[in-house]
Amino acid sequence: ISLALSRGDLVETRNLIADNWTGGLEPRQLAVTDPSDGGLVSNVPDAGAADAKAAVDAAQAAFNAWRGAPARDRAAVLKRWNDVIVAHQDDLGRLISREQGKPLAEGRGEVLYAASYVEWFAEQATRTNGEVIPSPFSNKRILSVREPVGVVAVITPWNFPAAMIARKIAPALAAGCTVVAKPAEDTPLTALALVKLAQEAGVPPGVINIVTASRERAAGVVDVWLADDRVRKISFTGSTPVGKHLARQSASTLKKVSLELGGNAPFIVFADADIDAAVEGLMAAKFRNGGQTCVCPNRVYVHELVHDAFVAKLAARVGALKVGPASDSTSQIGPMINERAVQKIERHVRDAVSQGARIVVGGERIRKPDSPQAAYFSPTVLVDATPSMACSCEETFGPVVAVARFRDESEVVARANATPFGLAAYFYTDSPARIWRVAEALECGIVGINEGVLAAEAAPFGGVKESGYGREGSVHGLDDYQQIKYLCQGGV
Ligand code: ADP
Repeated sequence: ISLALSRGDLVETRNLIADNWTGGLEPRQLAVTDPSDGGLVSNVPDAGAADAKAAVDAAQAAFNAWRGAPARDRAAVLKRWNDVIVAHQDDLGRLISREQGKPLAEGRGEVLYAASYVEWFAEQATRTNGEVIPSPFSNKRILSVREPVGVVAVITPWNFPAAMIARKIAPALAAGCTVVAKPAEDTPLTALALVKLAQEAGVPPGVINIVTASRERAAGVVDVWLADDRVRKISFTGSTPVGKHLARQSASTLKKVSLELGGNAPFIVFADADIDAAVEGLMAAKFRNGGQTCVCPNRVYVHELVHDAFVAKLAARVGALKVGPASDSTSQIGPMINERAVQKIERHVRDAVSQGARIVVGGERIRKPDSPQAAYFSPTVLVDATPSMACSCEETFGPVVAVARFRDESEVVARANATPFGLAAYFYTDSPARIWRVAEALECGIVGINEGVLAAEAAPFGGVKESGYGREGSVHGLDDYQQIKYLCQGGV
């Protein structure tokens, strides 16, 4: 298959500030490469502080008109944005696969997933009701209304180049906020294409502004937003160290902050579980996007009675996964995003083996002679994982399953919770009582119970502990972009 687009102008290589597609105020460029073969896809601006400030100027200038528009009008714009995204799902899917490396079917799936948030928040935009509160005073009346917080800075990662930006910009716009956005340096093209489609859908000038920057210059852009008191909210998805940095730096102007950070998801298989269903669920949860999602199971605990049967079935499935470029329709696992990523996976496997883990299948980097730049890793199953291994303490973010045995429920729940992170957790059991006990005891924001695929726009997505705070999607997804104003009327 070719990853060429039917609408070539969707490969937008400029930034949008106010009404202008611009090459940036400095002549620097950021190269976007295809992780499947290392080839250059395109150059985009490597923006700096002056571009960042211009973006806030534009967003602030657009704010009053956008917040003042009837919610129904904002909803109509978002509905049209959803429609054009869906209409261009094929091109956008190709673009995602091209710059991010996920197989084409997953790329297209991500487009529809991204659109589902836009549609959801188009619907939610008209339902931001306030309250009339029974007053404790006979001469006063008490009301509350919801208002947009103001300019929102959106900073996104590379693993879902469409979905992450859509699920931040859509609620911001629905609430009446305006946006300055910086997509990840590895995958700016999908974000630029989405913004171009937003413009075509009728998003007014200045309501969405987007700047692209290299990893080295990302902080230069974002620091300007952190320091600017007109930016009232930061919405970030990415690593925990960067999230903590943003939380710290935004304290100087006390912005609202939503952080969706790293996870270290446990996946527990109890002895009474349906083993085939558990293998199925683990395959779906673990190998989505090549293992590069923040809800991918990172630690698998299997009861000792079913351990060997589970591992045998799992290894057969993992060994059969086909690794290849995103453009090959038979590929199930694409390349890792970049060299840095594959080196981390190699380090985790080496460390696990040196501490006594055994490789059942995979375990090695795959070199493609025709594209030596590309970073492929073979789907891997490790057994005898222990808590001190890097693969148990850090997110591996690759196609590596590390399995450990356990004996009883309280022991495994304690092990599952023995991490500073708390995003997703999964468990498989046939016991209704255990379902309640374990679901309540797990320290995390998202629980998969006999299910490996949890993503849904109608559900509240987010973490606890060092996986961050705030919830995206669901009826709660607008809260982070709004403030509540209390109105008290006297003299009644
Ligand atoms: P990952 O490890 O998945 O690349 P990061 O947290 O490094 O996650 O990146 C997520 C987003 O944060 C990207 O858009 C990246 O450019 C941005 N980013 C990285 N470092 C900084 C920083 N020091 N300040 C602000 N943003 C940053």
